[in-house]
Amino acid sequence: MTDELREAYDVVVVGGGAAGLNGALMLARSRRSVAVIDAGAPRNAPAEGVHGLLGRDGTPPGELLERGRAEVRSYGGQVVSGEVDGLRRVPGGFEVGLADGRRTRARRLLVTIGLVDVLPEEVAGLRERWGRDVIHCPYCHGWEARDRAIGVLGSGPMAVHQALLFSQLSDDVTLFAHTMPSLTDEERDQLAARGIGVVEGEVAALEVAGDRITGVRLADGHVLAREVIAVGPRVALRAGFLDGVGLRPQQHPSGMGEHLPADPTGRSEIPGVWLAGNVTDPSAQVGGAAAAGALAGAQINFDLVTEVTNAAVAARNGDPFCAASEARVAELVAAAAERRHGLG
Ligand SMILES: Cc1cc2nc3c(=O)[nH]c(=O)nc-3n(C[C@H](O)[C@H](O)[C@H](O)COP(=O)(O)OP(=O)(O)OC[C@H]3O[C@@H](n4cnc5c(N)ncnc54)[C@H](O)[C@@H]3O)c2cc1C
Repeated sequence: MTDELREAYDVVVVGGGAAGLNGALMLARSRRSVAVIDAGAPRNAPAEGVHGLLGRDGTPPGELLERGRAEVRSYGGQVVSGEVDGLRRVPGGFEVGLADGRRTRARRLLVTIGLVDVLPEEVAGLRERWGRDVIHCPYCHGWEARDRAIGVLGSGPMAVHQALLFSQLSDDVTLFAHTMPSLTDEERDQLAARGIGVVEGEVAALEVAGDRITGVRLADGHVLAREVIAVGPRVALRAGFLDGVGLRPQQHPSGMGEHLPADPTGRSEIPGVWLAGNVTDPSAQVGGAAAAGALAGAQINFDLVTEVTNAAVAARNGDPFCAASEARVAELVAAAAERRHGLG
């Protein structure tokens, strides 16, 4: 289900995952006109359930988002299916362009587009089992993988960290060195002390029988029995369209890949643009992404309240430098009322 896109909003939220919907919920409850524009591909789509989320543990990801969309709509917010592919600054805010040619305007933007997990392409069979028995996060899937034969695919700087975390869940963890940086002596000590075996050499493929992983095949042909594979994907952003407002991805300090930096309230370096969820914090889980979205939504509301209050004070005091203030206040108030009524 999709709502009809209107001409203008107080806030457009780009991306309708946990972060975007919780931001929109806060804004709609603050009587802001808000539209969430969502391309419909949340990061955890392949997972069976959302784990580690208080009160909703194990809920299928699609069901959680459907509830969120209904909550946003119940306060007059809109949820529109579509992909934003262009942004530009215009007087009073931003113009938002969609890939199908539709356009709208917003006084503020909340960008919650998530991230893309880039899996090592050279290992055959990895992508097909992603989110099932190829996993990345001990807090999302660790309980389900407990006591199983786990192989950690070393493809980046977080592999030792990941192997240590999974050793809390199973006594049978093997680290495949694959393409990861060489282990330091300290790391070798840590792994040995936790009973984690290390297999040198590159991994070529996963062995699969029926609908389950049975092993890991090395490039030299050897096969080691494993049931679950943990991998640390590189994270990338689909953020080319943000160039239009001057936002460009930067490398995350963890070495995991790209992100867009924001302050603790979600404010980006570009005035009028807020960020929340995985687009700025790649390690945020659903609860963290939702909380960040809610905080950013509240901050945007406050920013808009401040704008109209400043204009009203200037008008009231007959500020000679703000001759247009009175008209501007009237314009802002009328536009807000019109949008409120329009949205029901
Ligand atoms: C396999 C897997 C399993 C996971 N399991 C768990 C779990 O059990 N528990 C947990 O807490 N976390 C889990 N996570 C992490 C969880 O996916 C993230 O915490 C969460 O998705 C972050 O929410 P978000 O709103 O930032 O981004 P997302 O949920 O990814 O939402 C972003 C939305 O923006 C849309 N979008 C992107 N670009 C555009 C555009 N240009 N225009 C319009 N829309 C756009 C996308 O289509 C998507 O719908 C899992 C992750 C993976 C990969």
